[in-house]
Amino acid sequence: MRSILSSSSAPDLSQECALYPLSCGGLPVASLYPNAYFFGMSNLGFHALCRLVGEGSGTTLERFCLESMKGKQVRSLERGFDLGRMRIILATVSYEEDSLNLMHILRRAGIEPDRKKRKSPFILAGGSFVTIAPKVLSRIADALYLGYMGNEEKKELQEIFSDKNLSRQSILKKLESIKGIFIPGEAKEENISFPLNIFEQSLYLARDTEFSRMYLMEIGRGCPFRCRFCTTGHLYPHVSWRRAEDVFEVFDDVESRHPGKVQSIGLVAPVPNRHPDIKRILENFCRKGKAVSLSSIRAAGTDKEFFQLLRACRQRSFTIAPEVPGEDDRERMGKKIADAEIFRCLEDARSAGFRQVKMYFLTGCEGMRSREDVTCLEKFLNKVPDDMRVKLSFNPVVPKPGTSLQKRTMPLSADIKNLMKQIRKSLSRKTNVKLKFGSLKRFYIQYKIANGDEETLFEMFGGLKE
Ligand code: SF4
Repeated sequence: MRSILSSSSAPDLSQECALYPLSCGGLPVASLYPNAYFFGMSNLGFHALCRLVGEGSGTTLERFCLESMKGKQVRSLERGFDLGRMRIILATVSYEEDSLNLMHILRRAGIEPDRKKRKSPFILAGGSFVTIAPKVLSRIADALYLGYMGNEEKKELQEIFSDKNLSRQSILKKLESIKGIFIPGEAKEENISFPLNIFEQSLYLARDTEFSRMYLMEIGRGCPFRCRFCTTGHLYPHVSWRRAEDVFEVFDDVESRHPGKVQSIGLVAPVPNRHPDIKRILENFCRKGKAVSLSSIRAAGTDKEFFQLLRACRQRSFTIAPEVPGEDDRERMGKKIADAEIFRCLEDARSAGFRQVKMYFLTGCEGMRSREDVTCLEKFLNKVPDDMRVKLSFNPVVPKPGTSLQKRTMPLSADIKNLMKQIRKSLSRKTNVKLKFGSLKRFYIQYKIANGDEETLFEMFGGLKE
């Protein structure tokens, strides 16, 4: 689980490698990830932000993360610059907890978090959480970026941030016309940017991250499935796939810059196995002897050949998300995948040699809230081949703005705890099953922040101790 202010010692930068040239000598601009380096360096949104600054000819990248907090100061990873003295801060806020961390970091750096009282630095925040709930950060950030950034927008931002003569007002004026920019306090409607055919890949290859030394490549954006609880399907219902040729070209380019350095590749998309050329992409990397890993896949649309290729790319386990054990309830939650598809997928994976699967389940929603639902889960798991080890991960459903569940409240914590107890008891004899339950406290914090307003972080900040 992501941390709320549990920073550790400074990351060892000698264990990372910048895969593309970064400019230096321009105006220092802060690229801030308000969580641990471990997560930031596994986040393609943060890599994209670092590229925006690091590849601009008039800006120099200074990264900041939780580990930048040293005593009363917040110092950049690169050259130890003081965050409080930076002119511009660009922040990637991907998750709810990160927005609270942002408050802490600003305070620690001696920066006034209230934009109306602050003269400097200028703060622009973007990232998935900002896009989901822009109003939560609207008292802190001078401007917000909603959605994904296109090449034109990147160029315009690089130009603006490399001009040291621009005042706060002139920066705002110039930002106004950029697609995806939302300026708090202005009447302009929020517009989410979704450029087609623009994709990201890792800027750094780093050891101390969630995906150690893995080169991440985005192969698709958007999802057509609109599961009722999911923000991705609601915010980005159109899908844009990266062309296989582009994937190969980008990889060959990095390989030619750093021969043999990249040994494992993570292909990132909301539903990566739906990529129309996924088999060709896997085949290509397999031929090159690279290990490939995919984010969570959709059981429907897989087949034996797909799993054989995944095995050939040295993937040992895979992840699917049935969400709830009953087929009808699954459909009610918007996840229209029949049981038969799930068990066919497991059988195909098994015959390709997979013996380990991870499955995500929700709790506190239709299909996963009663004793009958737990019995249904037990029956569901009885159909999983005996020689497959199953890791089950349970998280309470968090109603988020913009989704079909936005008007709901969070399920009661006592009910979830009771359900967890029943699940543990009912599956205790299953030796091939391992259970993992997410921290309830964290999910309630997420709910509160995601459904909050511009005052929420200020109120919560008063109630939390570092
Ligand atoms: S849960 Fe997965 S399949 Fe459903 S809308 Fe979200 S990304 Fe798409």
